[in-house]
Amino acid sequence: MSDFAYVNARLHAEGVALEDLATEVGTPFYCYSTAAMESRCEAFARAFDGLPATVCYSVKANSNLAVLREMARHGAGADVVSGGELARALKAGMAPDKIVFSGVGKTAGEIDAALEAGIAQINVESESELVMVGERARAHGVDAAVALRVNPDVDADTHEKISTGKVEDKFGIDLPHAADLYARTAAMEGVTPVGLAVHIGSQLTRLDPFREAFSRIAALVHDLRESGLEVRRLDLGGGLGIVYDGETPPHIADYAALVREVIAPLGCELLFEPGRWLVGNAGVLVTRVIRIKEGLSRRFVVVDAGMNDLLRPALYDARHRILPLNETAPDAEESPADVVGPVCESGDSFAVARPLPPLAEGDLVAICSAGAYGAVMASTYNSRALVPEVMVRGKVHAVVRPRQDIDALLGLESVPGWQEADTD
Ligand SMILES: *Cc1c(COP(=O)(O)O)cnc(C)c1O
Repeated sequence: MSDFAYVNARLHAEGVALEDLATEVGTPFYCYSTAAMESRCEAFARAFDGLPATVCYSVKANSNLAVLREMARHGAGADVVSGGELARALKAGMAPDKIVFSGVGKTAGEIDAALEAGIAQINVESESELVMVGERARAHGVDAAVALRVNPDVDADTHEKISTGKVEDKFGIDLPHAADLYARTAAMEGVTPVGLAVHIGSQLTRLDPFREAFSRIAALVHDLRESGLEVRRLDLGGGLGIVYDGETPPHIADYAALVREVIAPLGCELLFEPGRWLVGNAGVLVTRVIRIKEGLSRRFVVVDAGMNDLLRPALYDARHRILPLNETAPDAEESPADVVGPVCESGDSFAVARPLPPLAEGDLVAICSAGAYGAVMASTYNSRALVPEVMVRGKVHAVVRPRQDIDALLGLESVPGWQEADTD
C-alpha cells in the first residue's frame, strides 16, 4: 500500500490528501490510486517477460470504466462474466481480440453479443453451453473460438465462497469428461476449440494448488495432442492472493516460475485473468465515524459506510486494515473496538474487537485494500445511495462515479395505476 501513505501525518493517495477528497465528495467514498495499478500491471508483465502472455483483467474485481481504461493502457484485455461486463470492456476501449467470456450461465443473448463483438474466445463451462454456442454461431454464420474451462478438482485452500475448482463447485467441465468433449468440439460445426481454461478460486495464498491444477492441465494437453487434437492456447485464470492484513501470498516471481516450469514447455499462447492482484491494494474506502457507542461488553465505532458499500467482511469474513486519516502518535494507546456500519443487520461489521487508536465522533478512517470486490459489490440496501469513486493520479484526482442521487434512485420506481387511483 505504498501509494497510500502518511505525508505530514495525513493519509494520502499518492499526492492527494484523502481528507481533502472527503471534504469535496463527502463520505463514504472509494479512492483508487493509478500508480498502484500501474506498478502491479508492470510487475505482472515483468514476471512473464519473454513468454507469449496476455493479461485479460478480471472485470468483476473492479469494473469502473476508468479502471478498465487504465488496464487497457497497460495492454490488458478483459475477462468478462456477463453481457454488461462485455459492454463495459468494449466501452473502455479494450480490444475484442483480448476479451474472453467466462461463467456458467451465459444466456443466448450474451453469447450473441460476444459473437457480434468478435471476442478472442468463449470459455465454455458445460456441454449444454457448447451446444448453444454452436447453434448461435451457425445462426450468425461465424465460427466461435472456444476454450473448455476445466474443473481440475483441486482444493484452492481459500474461503469456501471463493473456491471454484473442486468437483462440488459449479464451475468448469469435470476433468474426466474434458478430453472427450474437446474431441467432440473439434468435430462440431460453428465452434473451434482453441484451448483450455482453468480458474480454481480467488485469494489463493499458497502456490501448491496452482501447481496441482496446472499439472493436471498440462497432462490433459498431452493427452489431447496425442489424440491428434490441437491445443494452442491456455487460459490460466486469476486467483493470486494479496496482503490484506498479514497474509503471505506467493510472490509473483514464484508464480511465474511455476508457470515457466509446468506450462511454458507446452508452447501455448497464455492468457491470465488476474483481478484482485492488480487492483485490490489500489483502493481504499474512506468513511467517517458517526458515533461511538459504549456497550456493556464492547465499544462500537459506528461508521457511515456499511455492508452495502463493502460487502467482503459480511460475505467472506474478510479482514481489512483500518487506518485513521490523521496519523496517531506512536505512543497512543490502542484499545479494542468493533467497527460497524449503520445497516440494520448484525453482519454489518468491518472489524470485531480490533485494537484501534483513539477515535472520536467525526474522525475519518480508511478501510484498506478495498480496490477489488468493493464498489462492484455495492448495493442500495437500506435505500443507501451508491457512494462515489475517485481516481487519483499524482497530485490530481477525478470523480469517476458521482454519489448516486436518492431522488434518481426513487425515480426508477413507480406505483401501479390502480394504486394511484386510491390516493384521491
Ligand atoms: C473472479 C475470476 C477471476 C479473477 O479472480 P481474482 O482472484 O480476482 O484474480 C478470474 N477468472 C475467473 C473465471 C473468475 O471468475
